[in-house]
Amino acid sequence: MSVALRFRRRFSMAHRLASGSSLKCATPHGHDEYVVVELEPQDHGRLDGEANMVVEFARAKGRWHRFVDERLDHGFQLGERDPLLALAREHFPDWRLVVTPGDPTTELMAACLAAKCQAILDDEGVVLRVRRLTLEETPTNAVVVEGDFRALLPRADGWWSRPDESTE
Ligand SMILES: [Zn+2]
Repeated sequence: MSVALRFRRRFSMAHRLASGSSLKCATPHGHDEYVVVELEPQDHGRLDGEANMVVEFARAKGRWHRFVDERLDHGFQLGERDPLLALAREHFPDWRLVVTPGDPTTELMAACLAAKCQAILDDEGVVLRVRRLTLEETPTNAVVVEGDFRALLPRADGWWSRPDESTE
């Protein structure tokens, strides 16, 4: 027996992969992505015969989607050692930056976003766990993280572990 809530949100982003792993992706470019979170109750139980809901949907997704809309959407994802980062900070202080430990690949972002969503839920006191997060980079390519997604992260602490609006 299990039940999960699933929420999907679209956002536009730009990034580049600077480590040399992909020459094509070294040029800044963008994607329209969808992030899908699947949330499950920390304690499974019977629906109560009254309200019959796990958690009110607005409470489960409100802060998370606000983060996606206001911080992730139209953000420029850059690795912390990318020379473009210093340039952006110096000349374009209004840019929405998302800074990652190493290249901002879809794999890394999926793990970061799963951690961020969990941090927000925990802070909100919503007793839901991120069971799975899917980051759809294109209509045909996606990365799925589930289980102990924090173990995927290069570092435990960063903006992804903080339940706030930070992305750097
Ligand atoms: Zn790309």
